[in-house]
Amino acid sequence: MTSQNKKSALHVNKGIDQPSSMNERLLEKLKSRKKSLLSIDEYVDGILSGDRVTLSKAITLVESNLGEHYETAQKIIERCLPYSGNSIRIGITGVPGVGKSSFIEALGNRLTSKDKKMAVLAIDPSSERSKGSILGDKTRMESLSGSDKAFIRPSPSAGSLGGVARKTREIIILCEAAGFDHVFVETVGVGQSEIAVHSMVDFFLLLMLSGAGDELQGIKRGIMEISDAIVINKADGSNKNAASQAAINYANALHLFPAKESGWTPRTQTCSSITGEGILDIWEMVLEYIAFTKNNKYFYQKRQEQEKFRMYDSINERLKNDFYQNPKIRELQKEMETMIIDQKISAYVAAQRLFSAYKKGYTGSESNK
Ligand code: GDP
Repeated sequence: MTSQNKKSALHVNKGIDQPSSMNERLLEKLKSRKKSLLSIDEYVDGILSGDRVTLSKAITLVESNLGEHYETAQKIIERCLPYSGNSIRIGITGVPGVGKSSFIEALGNRLTSKDKKMAVLAIDPSSERSKGSILGDKTRMESLSGSDKAFIRPSPSAGSLGGVARKTREIIILCEAAGFDHVFVETVGVGQSEIAVHSMVDFFLLLMLSGAGDELQGIKRGIMEISDAIVINKADGSNKNAASQAAINYANALHLFPAKESGWTPRTQTCSSITGEGILDIWEMVLEYIAFTKNNKYFYQKRQEQEKFRMYDSINERLKNDFYQNPKIRELQKEMETMIIDQKISAYVAAQRLFSAYKKGYTGSESNK
């Protein structure tokens, strides 16, 4: 470079880089987000070829509450649906500490060693309130999670129980399309979530303990009533006899419940996830149940009912979202609330006004699609 050039007004001095107008970390995040968003074909192909990374990404979309993700997720599910349904779906419940994870791991290790593929999902009602998760925050199923034949996914952590259950139903479809032919859905037996799990599985298993004094351990009668089997866990060491006795007591209690629509007589068994005793017997029982209900067609009827439920559940959700996102409703809602508090109108009348405003001024997003 000549000295002439150096003095030229056109000479560009080497300076420092201009700072980005965007936060660098945000930029990186956006870049990686873009990268992680695949095309629908890529998602579907990945899932159908059993690629766990793609399956995980698709599940993240299903769990997302963003509208654009929801639409993409629904398209993926739609395309995976014909490849789903070929699994055995098992629901497992029981109070925290009863040994659900240990049981699933003990059984899972045996199934995967026989080349079976299993997915473990969870519905955790605590995660909504505490943001933490009874099921998700401990290191769980360490040996099973190392297997390439097992896919373990903690509970979606946001949303109502209804929302989480809906997402779990959809995640089951994706896991099945990815070739996981045994799906375990685990929940804590303390509330409504077991009813939700029951509505998405073929076989529902209640894990219990013996020697806890009160044999019913706070498990509601309704949960015992929907169970296809009650398994007394930790039947090992000095606990073995007590577990057998508890199994007899529960068997007697089960006799008092009305006969099941499935025609299946619920069983009680004992097992130990530590010694492994009884674990495979429980699996034999599950297979027996599946064969029995396939034979009397209940298996298929129940699956059909569950699919119908999925449709109505989806309609209810869409209607609710459409209603509350309607601009006219948003406007009127506060006014109605104030009028109720001031006792100018009843809650019933307020609801009626909101509903007719919704019907009249229907500009809902769904109508444009
Ligand atoms: P979860 O909260 O229901 O998932 O229960 P975990 O599987 O985390 O088990 C709770 C505790 O019980 C752990 O310390 C386990 O080691 C123990 N445990 C689980 N299954 C058995 C069993 O069959 N026998 C014995 N003795 N302990 C068990």
